[in-house]
Amino acid sequence: MAVAFKKIIGKTRLMNPFKDHALDEIPYEIRFDPLTGETGRVFDLPYKADPPDPSETIERSMKLFCPFCPETLAKSTPLFPKDVIPEGRIQVGEASLIPNLVPFDKYAGVSIFSARHYIPMEELSAENMVDAFTAARTFIQRIAESDPLVRFFTINWNYMPPAGSSIVHPHLQTNCGDVPTNELRLQVEACKDYTRKTGRGYWEDFVEAEKENGVRYVGQMGSTFWSMSFVPFGFLPDVSCVFTEESSLAQVDDRTFYAFLEGLARVLRYFKEENISSFNMSIFSVREDERFRIHARVCPRLFPRAIGNNDMAYMQAMHREPFTVRPPEAVCPRLRALFGVNAGVME
Ligand SMILES: [Zn+2]
Repeated sequence: MAVAFKKIIGKTRLMNPFKDHALDEIPYEIRFDPLTGETGRVFDLPYKADPPDPSETIERSMKLFCPFCPETLAKSTPLFPKDVIPEGRIQVGEASLIPNLVPFDKYAGVSIFSARHYIPMEELSAENMVDAFTAARTFIQRIAESDPLVRFFTINWNYMPPAGSSIVHPHLQTNCGDVPTNELRLQVEACKDYTRKTGRGYWEDFVEAEKENGVRYVGQMGSTFWSMSFVPFGFLPDVSCVFTEESSLAQVDDRTFYAFLEGLARVLRYFKEENISSFNMSIFSVREDERFRIHARVCPRLFPRAIGNNDMAYMQAMHREPFTVRPPEAVCPRLRALFGVNAGVME
């Protein structure tokens, strides 16, 4: 097994004021991502988020203009040109997918969940999410068919302002292009490298390795595999999901997509228990690559202290180095319990 979960464990010495200034040691870890080799810092601090109160944010957002509410959507949001999406917008059930006015890529869509301006996290069930995600996948499929040069497809979500969203009204952002983001490029190159060195696929070995060691293993939903990320991206541990059979979002069928959303809904239920009310999510995929597997990360976002500080600081902004205050292995059992008995069988 070539997937390695490498970490360096250190201790720093200080005279601790909470122990009468006696000599004390504070442990820390530097972890190396098993795929990309990128590092992150992991601490084990007694941190628990305070219960959030989004009511003030929601109230403020109601007073501001919302382009996604039904009375403004049709006249305030753009349409795709006829040669891209002939009908102008993609409609799936209650969801509408429109062009993103901030085009992060050659093709950029915004998938608005429904007419509801605010959906509390606990109501984000698979059923309530499926239309928006299906609209995003439909957009990807249409772009993949019409533009053979596009090779990278992602679905992304900022849920609520602590995660960077300027609009409370729930929406996904779907990007399709021929230049990957830094993160996706690292993943694609590292996957290629892994196969060159071992003759095997990285993601299959990763799933095997995480199942075998068990400490970050959360569960399975259909053919999607869930675990805590070894090197978390956020202030609190984030969750990873691997689509074990597909490399492109354009290939995913309804059944697998729904299984993914069932898993995602459980992750959000767990976040709620942890007083986390905002998150980022990205699903990374390529056009076609037998070595690659679609995978996703769901990362808690919060203002950690009463002063309202951001959970990302100089380490992430200037050093591109994430840090986490709780070890992923310590929080894993609570999420695993929410995946329950139905989650243990790979179909
Ligand atoms: Zn709205």
